[in-house]
Amino acid sequence: MTRDPIESKLGQYRKSEEPLSATNRLWPLYGAGWENLGKEGGAMDLPMPHPGPDELLVRHDAVGICFSDIKVIRAGEKHPRIHRSMKEQPVVLGHEVALTVVVVGENLQEQYQPGDRFIVQADIYIGGKAYAYGYELQGWLLQIQHRRLACSMAITAII
Ligand SMILES: [Zn+2]
Repeated sequence: MTRDPIESKLGQYRKSEEPLSATNRLWPLYGAGWENLGKEGGAMDLPMPHPGPDELLVRHDAVGICFSDIKVIRAGEKHPRIHRSMKEQPVVLGHEVALTVVVVGENLQEQYQPGDRFIVQADIYIGGKAYAYGYELQGWLLQIQHRRLACSMAITAII
């Protein structure tokens, strides 16, 4: 019996069996206004990150644009949760995401497997300090949709 090529391709995608790209595409925001989204109107390709021993590399399967993202686009550095120069350290928006684990750091092999699927609690606290994806931490508006994730911080629910 021959496998349906579309089913096979979808199965590979779901299980994170596809080879990793060498690059990761993202859309940073450098200040207030849509004209500051991306570099010269386009996305940036950066080297694919590699997870450390306590990190995961995850693929973003879907990201929702939230009204909170629109507030950051409108306010830029005047937004009360942005505490840095966006020109020097741009914000990558997107905090509502569904993701799949692609690579598991060596210290997490018993907890996670490639192909595990999760949603993320965007607003997190580490050592009593508030962080959030799309503000202090790089968000999920990544076109090729991979990122390193310190796993103890934010994975909240298996989907
Ligand atoms: Zn939101």
